[in-house]
Amino acid sequence: MTEQGKSSLFPTYARYPITLVKGEGSRLWDDTGKEYIDMMSGIAVAALGHAPQVVKEKLIEQLDQLWHVGNLFHIPNQEKLAGLLTDNSCADAVFFCSTGAEANEAAIKIARRYSQKVLNNGRYEIITFNMSFHGRTIATLTATGQDKVKEGFLPLPEGFVYADYNDIESVRNLVNDRTCAVMLEFVQGEGGVLPADPTFVKQLAELCKEHNLLLIADEIQTGVGRTGKLFAYEHYGVEPDIFTLAKGLGGGFPIGAMLSKGYLAEAFSAGSHGSTFGGTPIATAAAHATLSTIIDNQLPERAAQLGEYTVKKLESKLAGNPLVKSIRGIGLLIGIECAQPSAEIISEIHKQGVLVIPAGPNVIRLVPALTIPQEDLDQALEVVCGVLSQK
Ligand code: PLP
Repeated sequence: MTEQGKSSLFPTYARYPITLVKGEGSRLWDDTGKEYIDMMSGIAVAALGHAPQVVKEKLIEQLDQLWHVGNLFHIPNQEKLAGLLTDNSCADAVFFCSTGAEANEAAIKIARRYSQKVLNNGRYEIITFNMSFHGRTIATLTATGQDKVKEGFLPLPEGFVYADYNDIESVRNLVNDRTCAVMLEFVQGEGGVLPADPTFVKQLAELCKEHNLLLIADEIQTGVGRTGKLFAYEHYGVEPDIFTLAKGLGGGFPIGAMLSKGYLAEAFSAGSHGSTFGGTPIATAAAHATLSTIIDNQLPERAAQLGEYTVKKLESKLAGNPLVKSIRGIGLLIGIECAQPSAEIISEIHKQGVLVIPAGPNVIRLVPALTIPQEDLDQALEVVCGVLSQK
């Protein structure tokens, strides 16, 4: 980082000593010309790799036409994208925004407003999970089940309580006459790549029905094909009342979305929620190109196959390695749990030309593009396993 950067940027990120200047597909280059295989996709964002031609073309077309008008006008690209999302999911209505935290804010708001303005039951409390991650705004960091993101930000808003993940009794014990919703990630991404147990999810959906609670799925990391299905809820045979997307949705262009069943839509009326940059003509053009490419090319199925291949390869190459405690994941969201903090191992993997990221202190997270070429994946896995075997 330059001296200028050091003095003028808030030090909110612990950055790696790498300056990336170019990306194409699953390859990245730094400012010294060194080439990397990208196994992190900007944290599950570049779903189609870097600078995918189909998104680039649609973006350029839209850049020539119109950038921004604001949500006081009809935006055809927004309607087209909303249609693609509702045609391919259990949702009937979509609200567009720009980030994951903003999508989760919208989810929290609509759950409360539905309870208070439509059902008129005055409920507001949302059960979330220990080790979850839902964002960095005040409400979403409060929803997050990790104390470290909350330190120094008191007072936090009321109305969030935390259950143990994959423990239905822990959820049941928290339900009371204030509870309006349960919010979960089907795979806790930042928490260490921890998939939800299918029996737990089934019991959770039943509990929600029994007590009239809304089920909110945070699919910001798991959505748009990452886990081997277009949306992770499809693995579990449940349909959330509300779910949220961001990260991979725009293929690298910032966009988020909160989607819900039709019966919730009346909870939001004109003026009850909004976002200046939500669903701009450009963002929705990028997201439509990304999502239709993912659907038309069966990329969720490809993620499922490559994910299974990757886990098998890691298991055989790392069998008996004392550094490796477990290998887990679903689709192309994979974690290698180490017996020690993973930071040093990750830094060595970077030195050897492969970009991976942590998930919690001990896990190495692999989240390559859904389009990663087989040769790139194989080469990257050789490096990861090689470093783990040398350490
Ligand atoms: N929810 C989940 C599951 C995430 O993984 C993230 C980001 O890592 C967020 C919410 C927050 O998204 P954003 O950083 O776009 O606000």
